[in-house]
Amino acid sequence: MIETTEKKFKEIVSSTIKKTTYDAFIEPTRILSIENDIIKLQVPSKFHYEYIKGQFRKLILETLKNILEKEDLKIDFVIEPQPESFDKKETVDDYILEKPILSLSSDKKNTVESYSKTELLPKYTFENFVTGDGNEIAFASAQQVAFSPKNTPYNPLLIYGGVGLGKTHLVQAIGNHVFNENPNIKVLYISSDKFVYNIVNAIKNKTIDAYKDELRKMNVIIIDDIQFFARREKSQEELFHVFNHIYLNQGVIILTSDFHPREIHNLDERLRSRFSMGLICDIRPPDLETRAAIVQLKAEELGFRIDKDVVMYIANNINTNVRELEGAVKKLHMHHSIFADQTIELSKAKDILKGFITAKKSALNIDKVQDIVAEYFNIKKDLLLQKNRTQQVADARGMAMYICTERLNVTTQSIGAHFGGRNHSTVSHASKKIHDKIFVEKNSEVIRQYEEIITKINLLTH
Ligand code: ADP
Ligand code: MG
Repeated sequence: MIETTEKKFKEIVSSTIKKTTYDAFIEPTRILSIENDIIKLQVPSKFHYEYIKGQFRKLILETLKNILEKEDLKIDFVIEPQPESFDKKETVDDYILEKPILSLSSDKKNTVESYSKTELLPKYTFENFVTGDGNEIAFASAQQVAFSPKNTPYNPLLIYGGVGLGKTHLVQAIGNHVFNENPNIKVLYISSDKFVYNIVNAIKNKTIDAYKDELRKMNVIIIDDIQFFARREKSQEELFHVFNHIYLNQGVIILTSDFHPREIHNLDERLRSRFSMGLICDIRPPDLETRAAIVQLKAEELGFRIDKDVVMYIANNINTNVRELEGAVKKLHMHHSIFADQTIELSKAKDILKGFITAKKSALNIDKVQDIVAEYFNIKKDLLLQKNRTQQVADARGMAMYICTERLNVTTQSIGAHFGGRNHSTVSHASKKIHDKIFVEKNSEVIRQYEEIITKINLLTH
Protein backbone atom coordinates (compact mmCIF):
# COMPACT_ATOMS: atom_id res chain seq x y z
CA MET A 1 0.00 0.00 0.00
CA ILE A 2 2.81 2.39 0.85
CA GLU A 3 4.64 1.62 -2.35
CA THR A 4 1.62 2.00 -4.62
CA THR A 5 0.64 5.21 -2.89
CA GLU A 6 4.14 6.59 -3.32
CA LYS A 7 4.19 5.58 -6.96
CA LYS A 8 0.82 7.16 -7.73
CA PHE A 9 1.77 10.23 -5.74
CA LYS A 10 4.96 10.72 -7.72
CA GLU A 11 3.21 10.14 -11.03
CA ILE A 12 0.65 12.81 -10.31
CA VAL A 13 3.10 15.34 -8.93
CA SER A 14 5.59 14.82 -11.75
CA SER A 15 2.89 15.60 -14.28
CA THR A 16 2.05 18.81 -12.44
CA ILE A 17 5.39 20.49 -11.86
CA LYS A 18 8.54 21.14 -13.88
CA LYS A 19 10.79 18.13 -14.35
CA THR A 20 13.93 19.72 -12.93
CA THR A 21 12.07 20.76 -9.82
CA TYR A 22 10.43 17.38 -9.52
CA ASP A 23 13.76 15.57 -9.88
CA ALA A 24 15.49 17.75 -7.36
CA PHE A 25 12.83 17.97 -4.69
CA ILE A 26 10.05 15.40 -4.99
CA GLU A 27 11.76 12.38 -6.48
CA PRO A 28 14.02 11.86 -3.44
CA THR A 29 11.08 11.80 -1.02
CA ARG A 30 9.84 8.51 0.45
CA ILE A 31 6.64 7.62 2.23
CA LEU A 32 7.70 5.83 5.38
CA SER A 33 4.34 5.03 6.88
CA ILE A 34 0.65 5.79 6.72
CA GLU A 35 -1.06 5.44 10.07
CA ASN A 36 -4.05 7.10 11.69
CA ASP A 37 -4.32 9.72 8.96
CA ILE A 38 -0.70 10.67 9.43
CA ILE A 39 1.75 10.19 6.61
CA LYS A 40 5.42 10.15 7.43
CA LEU A 41 7.29 11.60 4.50
CA GLN A 42 11.02 11.29 4.38
CA VAL A 43 13.02 14.09 2.80
CA PRO A 44 16.80 14.19 2.32
CA SER A 45 17.62 17.49 4.01
CA LYS A 46 16.30 20.41 5.99
CA PHE A 47 16.57 22.46 2.84
CA HIS A 48 14.32 19.98 1.00
CA TYR A 49 11.91 20.09 3.89
CA GLU A 50 11.71 23.90 3.78
CA TYR A 51 11.34 23.96 0.04
CA ILE A 52 8.75 21.22 -0.20
CA LYS A 53 6.74 22.61 2.68
CA GLY A 54 6.82 26.11 1.26
CA GLN A 55 6.25 25.40 -2.38
CA PHE A 56 4.33 22.17 -2.55
CA ARG A 57 2.58 21.63 0.77
CA LYS A 58 -0.89 22.07 -0.70
CA LEU A 59 -0.16 20.09 -3.81
CA ILE A 60 1.26 17.17 -1.84
CA LEU A 61 -1.52 17.17 0.70
CA GLU A 62 -4.32 17.37 -1.87
CA THR A 63 -2.72 14.69 -4.03
CA LEU A 64 -2.37 12.30 -1.12
CA LYS A 65 -5.88 13.05 0.12
CA ASN A 66 -7.20 12.14 -3.31
CA ILE A 67 -5.20 8.97 -3.64
CA LEU A 68 -6.10 7.74 -0.16
CA GLU A 69 -9.64 9.16 -0.34
CA LYS A 70 -9.26 10.82 3.02
CA GLU A 71 -10.59 14.14 4.18
CA ASP A 72 -8.26 14.64 7.08
CA LEU A 73 -4.63 13.95 6.55
CA LYS A 74 -1.51 15.24 8.17
CA ILE A 75 2.03 15.01 6.89
CA ASP A 76 4.90 14.55 9.27
CA PHE A 77 8.21 15.24 7.62
CA VAL A 78 11.21 13.19 8.61
CA ILE A 79 14.59 14.54 7.65
CA GLU A 80 16.96 11.78 6.75
CA PRO A 81 20.03 12.54 4.70
CA GLN A 82 20.90 8.94 3.85
CA PRO A 83 17.92 7.02 2.56
CA GLU A 84 19.80 3.74 2.98
CA SER A 85 20.24 3.96 6.73
CA PHE A 86 16.94 3.98 8.52
CA ASP A 87 18.23 3.66 12.03
CA LYS A 88 18.79 7.19 13.19
CA LYS A 89 15.90 9.27 12.01
CA GLU A 90 15.22 12.70 13.27
CA THR A 91 12.06 14.67 13.21
CA VAL A 92 12.14 18.24 12.04
CA ASP A 93 11.94 19.50 15.60
CA ASP A 94 15.14 17.75 16.62
CA TYR A 95 16.93 18.90 13.56
CA ILE A 96 19.73 21.26 14.41
CA LEU A 97 22.67 20.98 12.06
CA GLU A 98 22.61 21.38 8.32
CA LYS A 99 23.40 18.04 6.80
CA PRO A 100 25.01 17.49 3.44
CA ILE A 101 22.73 16.36 0.69
CA LEU A 102 24.21 12.97 -0.07
CA SER A 103 21.63 11.24 -2.13
CA LEU A 104 21.49 13.59 -5.05
CA SER A 105 22.83 13.08 -8.51
CA SER A 106 24.70 16.03 -9.94
CA ASP A 107 21.69 17.25 -11.93
CA LYS A 108 19.51 17.47 -8.89
CA LYS A 109 22.34 19.00 -6.98
CA ASN A 110 22.58 21.73 -9.59
CA THR A 111 18.98 22.67 -9.12
CA VAL A 112 19.28 22.70 -5.35
CA GLU A 113 22.47 24.71 -5.53
CA SER A 114 21.16 27.23 -8.00
CA TYR A 115 18.08 27.68 -5.83
CA SER A 116 20.14 28.36 -2.75
CA LYS A 117 22.09 30.99 -4.70
CA THR A 118 18.90 32.95 -5.33
CA GLU A 119 18.70 33.73 -1.59
CA LEU A 120 14.97 33.09 -1.78
CA LEU A 121 13.02 31.44 1.01
CA PRO A 122 10.67 28.72 -0.16
CA LYS A 123 8.03 29.48 2.45
CA TYR A 124 6.86 32.53 0.54
CA THR A 125 4.42 31.66 -2.23
CA PHE A 126 1.46 33.22 -3.99
CA GLU A 127 -0.58 30.27 -2.85
CA ASN A 128 -0.18 31.08 0.82
CA PHE A 129 -0.69 34.81 0.41
CA VAL A 130 -4.20 35.86 1.41
CA THR A 131 -5.62 38.62 -0.73
CA GLY A 132 -8.12 41.27 0.25
CA ASP A 133 -8.86 44.95 -0.13
CA GLY A 134 -5.46 46.28 0.92
CA ASN A 135 -3.22 44.06 -1.18
CA GLU A 136 -5.15 42.93 -4.25
CA ILE A 137 -3.48 45.28 -6.67
CA ALA A 138 0.00 44.58 -5.39
CA PHE A 139 -0.76 40.87 -5.62
CA ALA A 140 -2.06 41.06 -9.19
CA SER A 141 0.93 43.16 -10.30
CA ALA A 142 3.33 40.75 -8.63
CA GLN A 143 1.71 37.84 -10.44
CA GLN A 144 1.84 39.68 -13.73
CA VAL A 145 5.60 40.09 -13.40
CA ALA A 146 6.06 36.53 -12.14
CA PHE A 147 4.07 34.98 -14.97
CA SER A 148 5.89 36.83 -17.75
CA PRO A 149 9.16 38.14 -16.39
CA LYS A 150 10.69 38.45 -19.83
CA ASN A 151 8.28 41.00 -21.20
CA THR A 152 6.66 42.71 -18.31
CA PRO A 153 5.75 46.34 -18.81
CA TYR A 154 6.20 46.83 -15.06
CA ASN A 155 9.90 47.42 -14.78
CA PRO A 156 10.75 48.25 -12.12
CA LEU A 157 7.85 47.01 -10.05
CA LEU A 158 7.87 48.78 -6.72
CA ILE A 159 5.68 47.67 -3.84
CA TYR A 160 5.51 49.97 -0.84
CA GLY A 161 3.64 49.93 2.47
CA GLY A 162 3.92 49.60 6.23
CA VAL A 163 5.98 47.10 8.16
CA GLY A 164 4.75 43.52 8.33
CA LEU A 165 2.17 43.83 5.57
CA GLY A 166 3.59 41.21 3.22
CA LYS A 167 5.98 43.09 0.90
CA THR A 168 8.85 40.67 1.36
CA HIS A 169 6.42 37.78 1.08
CA LEU A 170 5.06 39.03 -2.25
CA VAL A 171 8.37 39.79 -3.93
CA GLN A 172 9.85 36.50 -2.74
CA ALA A 173 6.78 34.76 -4.16
CA ILE A 174 7.61 36.34 -7.53
CA GLY A 175 11.13 34.96 -7.30
CA ASN A 176 9.95 31.51 -6.27
CA HIS A 177 7.41 31.36 -9.03
CA VAL A 178 9.95 32.39 -11.66
CA PHE A 179 12.45 29.86 -10.36
CA ASN A 180 9.94 27.02 -10.27
CA GLU A 181 8.72 27.72 -13.75
CA ASN A 182 12.16 28.00 -15.19
CA PRO A 183 15.26 27.30 -13.13
CA ASN A 184 17.29 28.69 -16.04
CA ILE A 185 16.06 32.19 -15.46
CA LYS A 186 18.48 33.70 -13.02
CA VAL A 187 16.82 35.26 -10.02
CA LEU A 188 18.50 37.11 -7.21
CA TYR A 189 16.94 38.33 -3.99
CA ILE A 190 18.99 40.83 -2.01
CA SER A 191 18.31 43.25 0.82
CA SER A 192 19.16 46.83 -0.02
CA ASP A 193 21.67 46.92 2.83
CA LYS A 194 23.57 44.02 1.36
CA PHE A 195 23.28 45.46 -2.12
CA VAL A 196 24.81 48.76 -1.06
CA TYR A 197 27.44 46.94 0.95
CA ASN A 198 28.41 44.87 -2.09
CA ILE A 199 28.66 47.94 -4.26
CA VAL A 200 30.68 49.97 -1.77
CA ASN A 201 33.01 47.03 -1.28
CA ALA A 202 33.36 46.42 -4.98
CA ILE A 203 34.30 50.06 -5.54
CA LYS A 204 36.84 49.89 -2.76
CA ASN A 205 38.36 46.69 -4.13
CA LYS A 206 38.13 47.92 -7.70
CA THR A 207 35.91 45.01 -8.65
CA ILE A 208 32.85 47.04 -9.49
CA ASP A 209 32.95 46.00 -13.14
CA ALA A 210 33.01 42.36 -12.17
CA TYR A 211 30.09 42.92 -9.80
CA LYS A 212 28.16 44.71 -12.51
CA ASP A 213 28.85 41.78 -14.81
CA GLU A 214 27.49 39.42 -12.23
CA LEU A 215 24.33 41.50 -11.97
CA ARG A 216 24.06 41.71 -15.74
CA LYS A 217 23.68 37.93 -15.84
CA MET A 218 20.60 38.13 -13.65
CA ASN A 219 17.22 38.16 -15.32
CA VAL A 220 15.27 39.14 -12.25
CA ILE A 221 16.69 41.13 -9.36
CA ILE A 222 14.64 41.69 -6.25
CA ILE A 223 15.86 44.39 -3.90
CA ASP A 224 14.08 44.61 -0.56
CA ASP A 225 13.63 47.75 1.57
CA ILE A 226 15.10 50.42 -0.68
CA GLN A 227 14.22 53.14 1.83
CA PHE A 228 17.65 52.33 3.28
CA PHE A 229 19.36 53.68 0.16
CA ALA A 230 18.66 57.12 1.51
CA ARG A 231 21.07 56.55 4.38
CA ARG A 232 23.87 55.99 1.90
CA GLU A 233 24.00 59.33 0.20
CA LYS A 234 27.48 58.83 -1.12
CA SER A 235 26.84 55.60 -2.93
CA GLN A 236 23.65 56.72 -4.63
CA GLU A 237 25.41 57.93 -7.74
CA GLU A 238 26.97 54.51 -8.25
CA LEU A 239 23.64 52.86 -7.45
CA PHE A 240 22.06 54.85 -10.23
CA HIS A 241 24.65 53.59 -12.70
CA VAL A 242 24.21 50.03 -11.52
CA PHE A 243 20.45 50.30 -11.98
CA ASN A 244 20.88 51.68 -15.47
CA HIS A 245 23.25 48.90 -16.25
CA ILE A 246 20.77 46.23 -15.16
CA TYR A 247 17.96 47.98 -16.95
CA LEU A 248 19.86 48.30 -20.23
CA ASN A 249 20.57 44.60 -20.07
CA GLN A 250 16.85 43.86 -19.88
CA GLY A 251 16.97 42.73 -16.28
CA VAL A 252 13.71 42.98 -14.45
CA ILE A 253 13.99 44.88 -11.19
CA ILE A 254 11.56 44.40 -8.34
CA LEU A 255 11.72 46.68 -5.34
CA THR A 256 10.05 47.13 -2.00
CA SER A 257 10.01 50.11 0.28
CA ASP A 258 8.34 51.25 3.46
CA PHE A 259 7.37 54.49 1.72
CA HIS A 260 6.50 55.89 -1.66
CA PRO A 261 9.75 57.02 -3.36
CA ARG A 262 8.65 60.64 -3.17
CA GLU A 263 8.47 60.30 0.61
CA ILE A 264 11.96 58.87 0.98
CA HIS A 265 14.06 61.79 2.12
CA ASN A 266 17.61 62.14 0.89
CA LEU A 267 16.96 59.92 -2.07
CA ASP A 268 18.88 60.94 -5.15
CA GLU A 269 16.50 62.55 -7.68
CA ARG A 270 17.70 60.37 -10.51
CA LEU A 271 17.13 57.22 -8.46
CA ARG A 272 13.73 58.50 -7.47
CA SER A 273 12.70 58.99 -11.04
CA ARG A 274 14.29 55.69 -12.10
CA PHE A 275 12.21 53.92 -9.45
CA SER A 276 9.10 55.68 -10.65
CA MET A 277 9.42 54.59 -14.28
CA GLY A 278 7.59 51.28 -13.94
CA LEU A 279 4.70 50.52 -11.69
CA ILE A 280 4.38 51.66 -8.10
CA CYS A 281 1.70 50.06 -5.99
CA ASP A 282 0.93 50.17 -2.33
CA ILE A 283 -0.06 47.55 0.14
CA ARG A 284 -2.32 48.59 3.01
CA PRO A 285 -3.32 46.89 6.27
CA PRO A 286 -5.78 44.06 5.69
CA ASP A 287 -9.45 44.49 6.52
CA LEU A 288 -11.22 42.35 9.11
CA GLU A 289 -12.24 39.61 6.70
CA THR A 290 -8.74 39.28 5.30
CA ARG A 291 -7.24 39.25 8.77
CA ALA A 292 -9.56 36.41 9.73
CA ALA A 293 -8.58 34.47 6.60
CA ILE A 294 -4.90 35.01 7.38
CA VAL A 295 -5.35 33.71 10.94
CA GLN A 296 -7.06 30.62 9.58
CA LEU A 297 -4.38 29.98 6.99
CA LYS A 298 -1.51 30.44 9.44
CA ALA A 299 -3.16 27.94 11.81
CA GLU A 300 -3.67 25.50 8.98
CA GLU A 301 -0.01 25.82 8.04
CA LEU A 302 0.95 24.91 11.58
CA GLY A 303 -1.38 21.93 11.37
CA PHE A 304 -4.09 22.92 13.83
CA ARG A 305 -7.55 24.45 13.81
CA ILE A 306 -8.83 27.54 15.58
CA ASP A 307 -12.49 28.03 16.47
CA LYS A 308 -14.31 30.67 14.50
CA ASP A 309 -14.95 32.90 17.50
CA VAL A 310 -11.27 32.74 18.46
CA VAL A 311 -10.31 33.63 14.88
CA MET A 312 -12.59 36.66 15.07
CA TYR A 313 -11.23 37.63 18.47
CA ILE A 314 -7.69 37.73 17.09
CA ALA A 315 -8.71 39.44 13.86
CA ASN A 316 -10.65 42.09 15.78
CA ASN A 317 -7.93 42.84 18.26
CA ILE A 318 -4.84 42.83 16.10
CA ASN A 319 -5.58 45.08 13.22
CA THR A 320 -2.43 46.64 11.96
CA ASN A 321 0.22 44.11 11.18
CA VAL A 322 0.16 40.63 9.69
CA ARG A 323 3.35 39.65 11.47
CA GLU A 324 1.54 40.19 14.76
CA LEU A 325 -1.45 38.16 13.65
CA GLU A 326 1.01 35.38 12.95
CA GLY A 327 2.58 35.84 16.39
CA ALA A 328 -0.81 35.35 18.06
CA VAL A 329 -1.47 32.18 16.08
CA LYS A 330 1.96 30.84 17.02
CA LYS A 331 1.26 31.51 20.65
CA LEU A 332 -1.97 29.52 20.50
CA HIS A 333 -0.19 26.78 18.61
CA MET A 334 2.44 26.51 21.30
CA HIS A 335 -0.26 26.06 23.88
CA HIS A 336 -2.04 23.59 21.65
CA SER A 337 1.05 21.42 21.28
CA ILE A 338 2.16 21.58 24.90
CA PHE A 339 -1.25 20.80 26.37
CA ALA A 340 -2.57 18.75 23.46
CA ASP A 341 -5.79 20.79 23.53
CA GLN A 342 -8.09 19.64 20.81
CA THR A 343 -9.84 22.96 20.54
CA ILE A 344 -9.02 26.12 22.36
CA GLU A 345 -12.13 27.89 23.61
CA LEU A 346 -12.53 31.63 23.45
CA SER A 347 -12.07 32.24 27.17
CA LYS A 348 -8.93 30.12 27.11
CA ALA A 349 -7.64 31.92 24.03
CA LYS A 350 -8.23 35.30 25.66
CA ASP A 351 -6.25 34.11 28.60
CA ILE A 352 -3.37 32.81 26.49
CA LEU A 353 -3.25 35.96 24.41
CA LYS A 354 -3.77 38.36 27.29
CA GLY A 355 -0.19 39.56 27.51
CA PHE A 356 0.09 39.62 23.76
CA ILE A 357 -2.95 41.72 23.02
CA THR A 358 -2.78 44.14 25.93
CA ALA A 359 0.93 44.60 25.36
CA LYS A 360 -0.02 45.98 21.97
CA LYS A 361 -2.18 48.62 23.60
CA SER A 362 -0.61 51.97 24.19
CA ALA A 363 -1.55 55.44 25.33
CA LEU A 364 -3.73 57.46 23.01
CA ASN A 365 -2.26 60.52 21.33
CA ILE A 366 -3.04 62.75 18.34
CA ASP A 367 -0.99 60.60 16.02
CA LYS A 368 -2.86 57.43 17.00
CA VAL A 369 -6.23 59.11 16.61
CA GLN A 370 -5.18 60.12 13.09
CA ASP A 371 -4.04 56.56 12.33
CA ILE A 372 -7.27 55.02 13.51
CA VAL A 373 -9.54 57.55 11.85
CA ALA A 374 -7.64 57.37 8.56
CA GLU A 375 -7.87 53.59 8.61
CA TYR A 376 -11.55 53.74 9.43
CA PHE A 377 -12.29 56.09 6.54
CA ASN A 378 -9.92 54.15 4.35
CA ILE A 379 -7.80 57.12 3.39
CA LYS A 380 -4.11 57.92 3.70
CA LYS A 381 -3.25 59.57 6.97
CA ASP A 382 -1.33 62.29 5.11
CA LEU A 383 -4.55 63.56 3.60
CA LEU A 384 -5.74 64.52 7.07
CA LEU A 385 -2.81 66.88 7.32
CA GLN A 386 -3.05 68.35 3.86
CA LYS A 387 -5.39 70.90 2.32
CA ASN A 388 -7.52 68.28 0.59
CA ARG A 389 -11.17 69.29 0.70
CA THR A 390 -13.01 66.29 -0.69
CA GLN A 391 -16.03 65.52 1.47
CA GLN A 392 -14.69 62.19 2.66
CA VAL A 393 -11.38 63.70 3.75
CA ALA A 394 -13.05 66.71 5.39
CA ASP A 395 -15.41 64.38 7.31
CA ALA A 396 -12.52 62.22 8.45
CA ARG A 397 -10.45 65.23 9.45
CA GLY A 398 -13.34 66.77 11.39
CA MET A 399 -13.97 63.49 13.18
CA ALA A 400 -10.29 63.10 14.08
CA MET A 401 -10.15 66.65 15.42
CA TYR A 402 -13.32 66.18 17.42
CA ILE A 403 -12.04 62.96 18.98
CA CYS A 404 -8.77 64.70 19.87
CA THR A 405 -10.57 67.55 21.60
CA GLU A 406 -12.86 65.11 23.40
CA ARG A 407 -10.46 62.39 24.43
CA LEU A 408 -7.08 64.05 24.81
CA ASN A 409 -5.85 66.54 27.27
CA VAL A 410 -4.35 68.87 24.65
CA THR A 411 -5.04 72.38 23.43
CA THR A 412 -6.74 73.19 20.13
CA GLN A 413 -3.48 74.96 19.17
CA SER A 414 -1.54 71.76 19.56
CA ILE A 415 -4.16 69.76 17.67
CA GLY A 416 -4.02 72.31 14.85
CA ALA A 417 -0.26 72.04 14.72
CA HIS A 418 -0.52 68.27 14.29
CA PHE A 419 -3.00 68.65 11.46
CA GLY A 420 -0.61 70.30 9.05
CA GLY A 421 -0.28 73.57 10.94
CA ARG A 422 -3.92 74.59 11.09
CA ASN A 423 -5.27 77.43 13.14
CA HIS A 424 -6.86 76.67 16.56
CA SER A 425 -10.16 78.22 15.48
CA THR A 426 -10.28 75.85 12.50
CA VAL A 427 -9.99 72.99 14.96
CA SER A 428 -12.75 74.35 17.21
CA HIS A 429 -15.01 74.97 14.26
CA ALA A 430 -14.54 71.53 12.70
CA SER A 431 -14.97 69.82 16.07
CA LYS A 432 -18.15 71.72 16.86
CA LYS A 433 -19.60 70.68 13.53
CA ILE A 434 -19.18 66.99 14.38
CA HIS A 435 -20.38 67.57 17.94
CA ASP A 436 -23.56 69.18 16.63
CA LYS A 437 -24.15 66.41 14.11
CA ILE A 438 -24.03 63.89 16.92
CA PHE A 439 -25.81 65.73 19.72
CA VAL A 440 -28.02 68.28 17.98
CA GLU A 441 -28.94 66.83 14.60
CA LYS A 442 -28.62 63.27 15.91
CA ASN A 443 -27.31 62.23 12.51
CA SER A 444 -27.38 58.43 12.69
CA GLU A 445 -24.58 57.92 10.17
CA VAL A 446 -22.18 60.18 12.07
CA ILE A 447 -23.18 58.64 15.41
CA ARG A 448 -22.43 55.17 14.02
CA GLN A 449 -19.04 56.31 12.69
CA TYR A 450 -18.17 57.92 16.00
CA GLU A 451 -19.13 54.84 17.99
CA GLU A 452 -17.25 52.47 15.74
CA ILE A 453 -14.12 54.58 15.90
CA ILE A 454 -14.31 54.85 19.67
CA THR A 455 -14.67 51.07 19.90
CA LYS A 456 -11.52 50.71 17.86
CA ILE A 457 -9.69 53.24 19.98
CA ASN A 458 -10.71 51.41 23.14
CA LEU A 459 -9.48 48.14 21.75
CA LEU A 460 -6.12 49.51 20.77
CA THR A 461 -5.35 51.81 23.64
CA HIS A 462 -5.67 52.13 27.36
P1 ADP B 1 6.99 43.31 5.15
O1 ADP B 1 8.09 42.86 4.24
O2 ADP B 1 5.94 44.12 4.45
O3 ADP B 1 7.47 43.97 6.40
P2 ADP B 1 6.55 40.47 5.41
O4 ADP B 1 6.41 40.08 3.98
O5 ADP B 1 7.81 40.13 6.09
O6 ADP B 1 6.20 42.01 5.62
O7 ADP B 1 5.30 39.82 6.20
C1 ADP B 1 5.32 39.56 7.58
C2 ADP B 1 4.70 38.20 7.84
O8 ADP B 1 3.31 38.24 7.55
C3 ADP B 1 5.28 37.11 6.96
O9 ADP B 1 5.43 35.95 7.71
C4 ADP B 1 4.26 36.91 5.87
O10 ADP B 1 4.22 35.59 5.41
C5 ADP B 1 2.98 37.28 6.57
N1 ADP B 1 1.99 37.89 5.67
C6 ADP B 1 1.89 39.20 5.34
N2 ADP B 1 0.84 39.41 4.52
C7 ADP B 1 0.26 38.21 4.32
C8 ADP B 1 -0.86 37.75 3.56
N3 ADP B 1 -1.63 38.62 2.86
N4 ADP B 1 -1.16 36.44 3.57
C9 ADP B 1 -0.41 35.58 4.30
N5 ADP B 1 0.66 35.93 5.03
C10 ADP B 1 1.00 37.23 5.05
MG1 MG C 1 10.15 43.10 4.43
